[in-house]
Amino acid sequence: MTPFSSSSASAPLGPNAVIGIVGGGQLGRMSAMAAAKLGFRTHILTKDPNSPAAQVSHGVTLGAYDDLKALDAFARGVDVVTFEFENISADAMDCLSQYCPVRPSGHILRISQDRLAEKTFFTENGIPLAPWHAVTDRASLDAAAETLGLPFILKTTRNGYDGKGQSRIHHPADLETAFNTLAPHPLVAEGMVDFACELSVMVVRGINGTVRCFDPGMNRHRDGILDLTLAPAPVEPAISAQAQALAVSIAEKLDLVGILGVEMFLDHTGALLVNEIAPRPHNSGHWTMDACPVDQFDMHIRAVTGMPLPPAIRHSDAVMKNLIGPDDMALWPKIIGTPGLLPHLYGKEEARPGRKMGHVNCIFPFGSLPGELGIQDALGPLATSLAAEETQETQAEPISS
Ligand code: AMP
Repeated sequence: MTPFSSSSASAPLGPNAVIGIVGGGQLGRMSAMAAAKLGFRTHILTKDPNSPAAQVSHGVTLGAYDDLKALDAFARGVDVVTFEFENISADAMDCLSQYCPVRPSGHILRISQDRLAEKTFFTENGIPLAPWHAVTDRASLDAAAETLGLPFILKTTRNGYDGKGQSRIHHPADLETAFNTLAPHPLVAEGMVDFACELSVMVVRGINGTVRCFDPGMNRHRDGILDLTLAPAPVEPAISAQAQALAVSIAEKLDLVGILGVEMFLDHTGALLVNEIAPRPHNSGHWTMDACPVDQFDMHIRAVTGMPLPPAIRHSDAVMKNLIGPDDMALWPKIIGTPGLLPHLYGKEEARPGRKMGHVNCIFPFGSLPGELGIQDALGPLATSLAAEETQETQAEPISS
């Protein structure tokens, strides 16, 4: 059988075609809901029949992501495969491409799921990033400390998320423990960026090479987890344009089909440094669901099914606030009673600490994203937890180029 490449089939899939989504989480759920709007069916590969995506999909194959039998059964019943998280086997995705197109393709997954591959890709393609050093053994860790200087950040190359799998090295005495604690090896050492803020850009590319790019958002984290995205990012227009240009360039160099989140730092000199990419819908793009006529999930579904991509227009300014764990969920009765808060829940039964349960979008007229006090006011009951994070290093003030 001839393998499909991510862009080999050029005709758009028609109504009732089946989109296979690997992964049952909230990104799969919201992708499935977007697919349903366009008349597609979705089929989820997940271990959990009650997972957020399975709850809203047409079909489910129960199985692990490395279960070749389950993957085979899944792929035979779908017209295209996409995925909603990256910790899956790129080899398995390549295998599935014998049956149908896999979008984005396994080679992009391979780059995004390994920080060394990602940094090598950025470096080879002239994408600006923080200085870095591969750490394969103790000697190379000492060499990294020598080259980067202290402090620096040591990260696992795989499976890191929400700030997990990394350690900040402030003193030479920290080296040994960090090296022994972080696993698996190899690791990657990164120069510490004294950033003014963190931005992210959602970029999407279709099978004919059309690229669309949403406005950059500015992200704030709490306890290492994304807490808030402000859109558009309150930065100079020239910086926004540069951030979008970087995202487009990455999408083109990857030969992307589908959507990609690009996270970057803006440093105090006005320089952008790309931190990481995620070839799937992204939490920092959830604001598009209520501020754009065609949101990140609609775009992703359009791209992977070969449909034309409309412009990534934003009609409103927005603040997205994640609902994390039991504390935020305790506010649910107040959230639904607050005019102006647009809630999205993911159907998870247990609100464990740190677990993303849903998010809330708060929409403002185009061009009128308020300052800190206005945002707190609009977030109503959720402003309490916003106030608690003011120790964050990021600021919402405009940054000049
Ligand atoms: P990551 O897992 O790479 O997304 O990192 C999680 C968070 O750690 C980022 O959102 C930043 O706040 C912080 N961080 C990561 N890398 C660096 C860096 N090189 N310099 C400063 N802060 C960083």
